[in-house]
Amino acid sequence: MSDRPSLSTDAAARAVPGGGALTPAATGATAAPAAPAAPAAPPARSAVPRAAWHSAAVVAVTRETPTAARLELEVDGWPGNAAGQHLDVRLTAPDGYTATRSYSIASSGPGSRVVLAVDKLPDGEVSPFLVDELRTGDLLEVHGPLGAFFVWRPVEERSLAPARPVQLIAGGSGVVPLFAMARAHADAEDLTPLRMLYSVRTPDDVYFADELMALAEASDAFRLDLVYTRRIPAAWPTPPGRIMREALAAAVIPAAERPLVYVCGSTGFVERVASWLIELGHDAGSIRTERFGGT
Ligand SMILES: Cc1cc2nc3c(=O)[nH]c(=O)nc-3n(C[C@H](O)[C@H](O)[C@H](O)COP(=O)(O)OP(=O)(O)OC[C@H]3O[C@@H](n4cnc5c(N)ncnc54)[C@H](O)[C@@H]3O)c2cc1C
Repeated sequence: MSDRPSLSTDAAARAVPGGGALTPAATGATAAPAAPAAPAAPPARSAVPRAAWHSAAVVAVTRETPTAARLELEVDGWPGNAAGQHLDVRLTAPDGYTATRSYSIASSGPGSRVVLAVDKLPDGEVSPFLVDELRTGDLLEVHGPLGAFFVWRPVEERSLAPARPVQLIAGGSGVVPLFAMARAHADAEDLTPLRMLYSVRTPDDVYFADELMALAEASDAFRLDLVYTRRIPAAWPTPPGRIMREALAAAVIPAAERPLVYVCGSTGFVERVASWLIELGHDAGSIRTERFGGT
Protein backbone atom coordinates (compact mmCIF):
# COMPACT_ATOMS: atom_id res chain seq x y z
CA MET A 1 0.00 0.00 0.00
CA SER A 2 1.31 3.42 -0.84
CA ASP A 3 1.61 6.11 1.80
CA ARG A 4 1.61 8.74 -0.90
CA PRO A 5 -1.31 11.13 -1.04
CA SER A 6 -3.41 10.91 -4.16
CA LEU A 7 -2.83 13.37 -6.95
CA SER A 8 -5.68 15.67 -6.30
CA THR A 9 -5.28 19.40 -6.66
CA ASP A 10 -3.76 19.77 -3.19
CA ALA A 11 -1.96 16.47 -2.90
CA ALA A 12 1.40 15.14 -4.06
CA ALA A 13 2.47 18.68 -3.59
CA ARG A 14 5.56 20.46 -2.41
CA ALA A 15 5.63 24.03 -1.23
CA VAL A 16 7.35 26.33 -3.69
CA PRO A 17 8.59 29.86 -3.22
CA GLY A 18 6.17 31.27 -5.75
CA GLY A 19 3.20 30.24 -3.61
CA GLY A 20 0.98 27.21 -3.82
CA ALA A 21 2.46 23.82 -4.57
CA LEU A 22 3.58 22.13 -7.72
CA THR A 23 1.89 19.02 -9.02
CA PRO A 24 2.03 17.26 -12.34
CA ALA A 25 -0.88 18.17 -14.60
CA ALA A 26 -3.29 17.26 -11.78
CA THR A 27 -5.15 20.52 -11.99
CA GLY A 28 -5.56 20.34 -15.73
CA ALA A 29 -4.75 16.74 -16.46
CA THR A 30 -6.92 16.30 -19.48
CA ALA A 31 -6.70 19.80 -20.81
CA ALA A 32 -3.21 20.61 -21.97
CA PRO A 33 -2.93 24.30 -22.78
CA ALA A 34 -3.58 25.23 -26.33
CA ALA A 35 -0.55 25.66 -28.53
CA PRO A 36 0.03 29.16 -29.81
CA ALA A 37 -1.39 29.81 -33.25
CA ALA A 38 0.94 28.13 -35.73
CA PRO A 39 2.36 30.19 -38.55
CA ALA A 40 1.83 28.91 -42.07
CA ALA A 41 4.13 25.95 -42.68
CA PRO A 42 6.96 26.55 -45.11
CA PRO A 43 6.48 23.74 -47.64
CA ALA A 44 10.15 22.70 -47.77
CA ARG A 45 10.25 22.00 -44.01
CA SER A 46 6.86 20.33 -43.66
CA ALA A 47 8.44 17.04 -42.52
CA VAL A 48 9.95 18.66 -39.41
CA PRO A 49 7.88 17.75 -36.35
CA ARG A 50 6.12 20.82 -34.97
CA ALA A 51 6.51 21.62 -31.29
CA ALA A 52 3.27 21.72 -29.32
CA TRP A 53 1.94 21.13 -25.80
CA HIS A 54 1.08 17.52 -25.06
CA SER A 55 -0.34 15.54 -22.18
CA ALA A 56 2.16 12.89 -21.10
CA ALA A 57 1.34 9.88 -18.93
CA VAL A 58 4.15 8.61 -16.72
CA VAL A 59 4.46 4.89 -17.51
CA ALA A 60 7.60 4.14 -15.51
CA VAL A 61 9.83 5.84 -12.97
CA THR A 62 13.06 4.03 -12.14
CA ARG A 63 16.21 4.93 -10.26
CA GLU A 64 18.96 5.82 -12.74
CA THR A 65 21.73 6.81 -10.32
CA PRO A 66 21.71 7.59 -6.58
CA THR A 67 20.54 11.12 -7.45
CA ALA A 68 18.65 10.68 -10.73
CA ALA A 69 15.49 9.05 -12.04
CA ARG A 70 14.62 7.72 -15.46
CA LEU A 71 11.12 8.77 -16.53
CA GLU A 72 9.32 6.93 -19.27
CA LEU A 73 6.40 8.89 -20.74
CA GLU A 74 3.63 8.03 -23.17
CA VAL A 75 3.00 11.34 -24.89
CA ASP A 76 -0.36 11.99 -26.47
CA GLY A 77 0.07 13.19 -30.06
CA TRP A 78 3.88 13.19 -29.89
CA PRO A 79 5.24 13.63 -33.43
CA GLY A 80 8.47 11.75 -32.73
CA ASN A 81 11.83 13.40 -32.20
CA ALA A 82 15.40 13.37 -33.41
CA ALA A 83 18.34 12.35 -31.23
CA GLY A 84 19.54 15.35 -29.24
CA GLN A 85 16.25 17.24 -28.98
CA HIS A 86 14.68 18.28 -25.70
CA LEU A 87 11.27 19.17 -24.35
CA ASP A 88 9.87 21.45 -21.67
CA VAL A 89 8.03 20.07 -18.66
CA ARG A 90 5.52 22.37 -16.97
CA LEU A 91 4.23 21.84 -13.45
CA THR A 92 1.26 23.83 -12.18
CA ALA A 93 0.29 24.64 -8.61
CA PRO A 94 -3.35 24.85 -7.56
CA ASP A 95 -3.08 28.63 -7.42
CA GLY A 96 -1.95 28.71 -11.04
CA TYR A 97 1.75 29.21 -10.33
CA THR A 98 3.77 27.32 -12.93
CA ALA A 99 7.36 26.18 -13.22
CA THR A 100 8.80 25.05 -16.54
CA ARG A 101 12.15 23.31 -17.09
CA SER A 102 13.85 21.81 -20.12
CA TYR A 103 14.86 18.15 -20.25
CA SER A 104 16.78 16.37 -22.97
CA ILE A 105 15.21 13.31 -24.52
CA ALA A 106 17.14 10.06 -24.15
CA SER A 107 15.06 8.36 -26.84
CA SER A 108 14.49 9.18 -30.51
CA GLY A 109 12.45 8.04 -33.46
CA PRO A 110 8.83 8.19 -34.58
CA GLY A 111 7.10 6.62 -31.54
CA SER A 112 5.12 8.31 -28.77
CA ARG A 113 7.25 6.82 -25.95
CA VAL A 114 9.69 9.38 -24.59
CA VAL A 115 12.46 8.71 -22.06
CA LEU A 116 13.96 11.39 -19.82
CA ALA A 117 16.59 11.20 -17.09
CA VAL A 118 16.48 13.86 -14.42
CA ASP A 119 19.17 14.63 -11.87
CA LYS A 120 17.95 15.94 -8.53
CA LEU A 121 19.38 19.27 -7.46
CA PRO A 122 18.68 19.22 -3.70
CA ASP A 123 17.78 22.92 -3.55
CA GLY A 124 16.00 22.89 -6.90
CA GLU A 125 12.36 23.70 -7.48
CA VAL A 126 11.37 21.14 -10.13
CA SER A 127 13.94 18.33 -10.23
CA PRO A 128 13.33 17.04 -6.65
CA PHE A 129 9.65 16.74 -7.51
CA LEU A 130 10.33 14.81 -10.72
CA VAL A 131 12.87 12.49 -9.06
CA ASP A 132 11.22 11.85 -5.69
CA GLU A 133 7.50 12.49 -6.09
CA LEU A 134 6.47 11.48 -9.58
CA ARG A 135 4.72 8.11 -9.89
CA THR A 136 3.47 5.81 -12.63
CA GLY A 137 0.08 7.06 -13.81
CA ASP A 138 0.76 10.73 -13.14
CA LEU A 139 0.22 13.19 -15.98
CA LEU A 140 2.63 15.89 -17.04
CA GLU A 141 2.41 18.73 -19.52
CA VAL A 142 5.25 18.68 -22.01
CA HIS A 143 6.11 20.99 -24.89
CA GLY A 144 8.21 19.79 -27.76
CA PRO A 145 10.11 18.41 -29.49
CA LEU A 146 12.49 21.37 -29.26
CA GLY A 147 15.89 22.17 -30.71
CA ALA A 148 17.13 21.96 -34.28
CA PHE A 149 20.87 22.52 -33.87
CA PHE A 150 21.90 20.07 -31.15
CA VAL A 151 20.67 17.13 -33.19
CA TRP A 152 22.31 14.19 -34.89
CA ARG A 153 20.54 12.19 -37.58
CA PRO A 154 22.36 9.02 -38.59
CA VAL A 155 21.08 8.67 -42.11
CA GLU A 156 21.61 12.32 -43.06
CA GLU A 157 25.08 12.36 -41.54
CA ARG A 158 25.97 9.16 -43.37
CA SER A 159 24.84 10.68 -46.63
CA LEU A 160 27.62 13.26 -46.35
CA ALA A 161 30.56 11.91 -48.32
CA PRO A 162 32.82 10.97 -46.70
CA ALA A 163 31.02 10.68 -43.36
CA ARG A 164 32.64 12.85 -40.70
CA PRO A 165 33.46 11.12 -37.43
CA VAL A 166 31.44 12.24 -34.43
CA GLN A 167 32.79 13.01 -30.98
CA LEU A 168 30.36 13.19 -28.07
CA ILE A 169 31.54 14.79 -24.80
CA ALA A 170 29.30 14.60 -21.73
CA GLY A 171 29.50 15.81 -18.16
CA GLY A 172 27.11 14.13 -15.67
CA SER A 173 23.48 14.27 -16.77
CA GLY A 174 24.68 15.93 -19.98
CA VAL A 175 24.96 12.43 -21.34
CA VAL A 176 21.18 12.25 -21.88
CA PRO A 177 20.96 13.68 -25.43
CA LEU A 178 24.29 12.08 -26.34
CA PHE A 179 22.98 8.68 -25.28
CA ALA A 180 20.07 9.24 -27.67
CA MET A 181 22.61 9.85 -30.45
CA ALA A 182 24.61 6.71 -29.58
CA ARG A 183 21.43 4.65 -29.54
CA ALA A 184 20.26 6.14 -32.86
CA HIS A 185 23.68 5.37 -34.34
CA ALA A 186 23.36 1.73 -33.26
CA ASP A 187 19.73 1.38 -34.33
CA ALA A 188 20.61 2.67 -37.81
CA GLU A 189 23.64 0.34 -37.94
CA ASP A 190 25.57 3.43 -38.90
CA LEU A 191 29.29 2.82 -39.40
CA THR A 192 30.30 6.45 -38.90
CA PRO A 193 32.99 6.45 -36.20
CA LEU A 194 31.31 7.66 -33.01
CA ARG A 195 33.26 8.24 -29.83
CA MET A 196 31.89 9.29 -26.45
CA LEU A 197 33.95 10.85 -23.68
CA TYR A 198 31.87 10.81 -20.51
CA SER A 199 32.95 12.55 -17.32
CA VAL A 200 31.11 11.47 -14.21
CA ARG A 201 31.74 11.61 -10.47
CA THR A 202 31.78 7.90 -9.54
CA PRO A 203 30.93 4.54 -11.15
CA ASP A 204 27.50 4.72 -9.47
CA ASP A 205 26.75 7.99 -11.25
CA VAL A 206 26.98 6.66 -14.81
CA TYR A 207 23.64 7.15 -16.58
CA PHE A 208 22.50 4.39 -18.95
CA ALA A 209 25.49 2.36 -17.75
CA ASP A 210 24.36 -1.06 -18.99
CA GLU A 211 23.09 0.29 -22.31
CA LEU A 212 26.27 2.26 -22.98
CA MET A 213 28.49 -0.74 -22.21
CA ALA A 214 26.34 -2.94 -24.45
CA LEU A 215 26.48 -0.41 -27.31
CA ALA A 216 30.27 -0.20 -27.01
CA GLU A 217 30.60 -3.98 -26.98
CA ALA A 218 28.25 -4.46 -29.92
CA SER A 219 29.90 -2.13 -32.42
CA ASP A 220 33.46 -1.32 -33.39
CA ALA A 221 32.12 2.00 -34.68
CA PHE A 222 31.22 3.19 -31.15
CA ARG A 223 33.84 3.80 -28.49
CA LEU A 224 33.12 4.82 -24.90
CA ASP A 225 35.74 6.55 -22.72
CA LEU A 226 34.83 7.17 -19.08
CA VAL A 227 36.50 9.66 -16.78
CA TYR A 228 35.75 9.56 -13.04
CA THR A 229 36.21 12.78 -11.15
CA ARG A 230 35.79 11.57 -7.54
CA ARG A 231 35.98 7.77 -7.24
CA ILE A 232 37.27 5.14 -9.64
CA PRO A 233 36.31 1.47 -10.00
CA ALA A 234 38.78 -1.19 -8.82
CA ALA A 235 41.85 -1.49 -11.03
CA TRP A 236 40.98 1.63 -13.02
CA PRO A 237 44.15 2.79 -14.77
CA THR A 238 43.96 6.49 -13.94
CA PRO A 239 43.30 8.32 -10.65
CA PRO A 240 40.08 10.28 -10.21
CA GLY A 241 40.16 13.86 -11.43
CA ARG A 242 38.49 16.38 -13.70
CA ILE A 243 39.23 16.29 -17.39
CA MET A 244 41.94 18.82 -18.16
CA ARG A 245 43.10 20.12 -21.50
CA GLU A 246 45.82 17.54 -22.12
CA ALA A 247 43.61 14.61 -21.12
CA LEU A 248 40.90 15.96 -23.42
CA ALA A 249 43.39 16.16 -26.29
CA ALA A 250 44.34 12.52 -25.72
CA ALA A 251 40.77 11.24 -25.48
CA VAL A 252 38.96 12.87 -28.40
CA ILE A 253 39.08 12.43 -32.17
CA PRO A 254 41.91 14.73 -33.35
CA ALA A 255 41.00 18.02 -35.00
CA ALA A 256 42.81 16.87 -38.16
CA GLU A 257 40.05 14.30 -38.70
CA ARG A 258 37.46 17.12 -38.69
CA PRO A 259 35.00 15.50 -36.29
CA LEU A 260 31.58 16.94 -35.62
CA VAL A 261 31.63 17.49 -31.84
CA TYR A 262 28.69 17.58 -29.44
CA VAL A 263 29.32 18.80 -25.88
CA CYS A 264 26.67 18.70 -23.17
CA GLY A 265 26.66 19.23 -19.41
CA SER A 266 26.69 22.01 -16.85
CA THR A 267 27.45 25.45 -18.23
CA GLY A 268 30.93 25.51 -16.69
CA PHE A 269 31.81 22.07 -18.08
CA VAL A 270 30.63 22.94 -21.58
CA GLU A 271 32.42 26.28 -21.69
CA ARG A 272 35.72 24.80 -20.46
CA VAL A 273 35.60 21.90 -22.90
CA ALA A 274 34.55 24.03 -25.87
CA SER A 275 37.34 26.55 -25.31
CA TRP A 276 39.93 23.78 -25.02
CA LEU A 277 38.64 22.17 -28.21
CA ILE A 278 39.18 25.44 -30.05
CA GLU A 279 42.68 25.75 -28.60
CA LEU A 280 43.32 22.19 -29.84
CA GLY A 281 42.46 23.27 -33.38
CA HIS A 282 38.84 22.16 -33.69
CA ASP A 283 36.73 24.32 -35.95
CA ALA A 284 34.26 26.37 -33.88
CA GLY A 285 31.60 25.73 -36.51
CA SER A 286 31.90 21.98 -35.91
CA ILE A 287 31.29 22.19 -32.16
CA ARG A 288 27.69 22.02 -30.99
CA THR A 289 26.96 22.67 -27.35
CA GLU A 290 24.05 22.27 -24.95
CA ARG A 291 24.28 23.90 -21.50
CA PHE A 292 22.15 22.53 -18.66
CA GLY A 293 22.80 25.45 -16.27
CA GLY A 294 24.79 25.63 -13.05
CA THR A 295 28.52 26.19 -12.92
C1 LIG B 1 18.17 22.24 -23.12
C2 LIG B 1 18.27 21.73 -21.70
C3 LIG B 1 18.20 20.37 -21.46
C4 LIG B 1 18.30 19.89 -20.15
N1 LIG B 1 18.26 18.53 -19.96
C5 LIG B 1 18.38 18.03 -18.69
C6 LIG B 1 18.37 16.61 -18.48
O1 LIG B 1 18.25 15.81 -19.42
N2 LIG B 1 18.47 16.17 -17.21
C7 LIG B 1 18.61 17.03 -16.14
O2 LIG B 1 18.69 16.55 -14.99
N3 LIG B 1 18.62 18.37 -16.32
C8 LIG B 1 18.49 18.88 -17.56
N4 LIG B 1 18.49 20.26 -17.76
C9 LIG B 1 18.49 21.13 -16.58
C10 LIG B 1 17.03 21.38 -16.13
O3 LIG B 1 16.36 22.16 -17.09
C11 LIG B 1 16.92 22.13 -14.80
O4 LIG B 1 17.71 23.28 -14.88
C12 LIG B 1 17.37 21.30 -13.62
O5 LIG B 1 16.56 20.12 -13.50
C13 LIG B 1 17.26 22.14 -12.33
O6 LIG B 1 15.94 22.54 -12.17
P1 LIG B 1 15.38 22.83 -10.69
O7 LIG B 1 14.06 23.49 -10.86
O8 LIG B 1 15.44 21.58 -9.86
O9 LIG B 1 16.46 23.80 -10.08
P2 LIG B 1 16.31 25.41 -9.98
O10 LIG B 1 15.32 25.71 -8.91
O11 LIG B 1 16.08 25.95 -11.34
O12 LIG B 1 17.79 25.78 -9.53
C14 LIG B 1 18.28 25.47 -8.23
C15 LIG B 1 19.74 25.88 -8.11
O13 LIG B 1 20.56 25.03 -8.94
C16 LIG B 1 21.27 25.80 -9.93
N5 LIG B 1 21.22 25.01 -11.16
C17 LIG B 1 20.27 25.02 -12.12
N6 LIG B 1 20.53 24.11 -13.08
C18 LIG B 1 21.67 23.50 -12.70
C19 LIG B 1 22.46 22.45 -13.26
N7 LIG B 1 22.12 21.86 -14.42
N8 LIG B 1 23.57 22.05 -12.58
C20 LIG B 1 23.91 22.63 -11.40
N9 LIG B 1 23.20 23.61 -10.83
C21 LIG B 1 22.11 24.06 -11.47
C22 LIG B 1 20.53 27.09 -10.03
O14 LIG B 1 21.42 28.13 -10.42
C23 LIG B 1 20.02 27.28 -8.61
O15 LIG B 1 21.04 27.78 -7.77
C24 LIG B 1 18.44 20.77 -19.06
C25 LIG B 1 18.50 22.15 -19.31
C26 LIG B 1 18.43 22.62 -20.61
C27 LIG B 1 18.51 24.10 -20.83
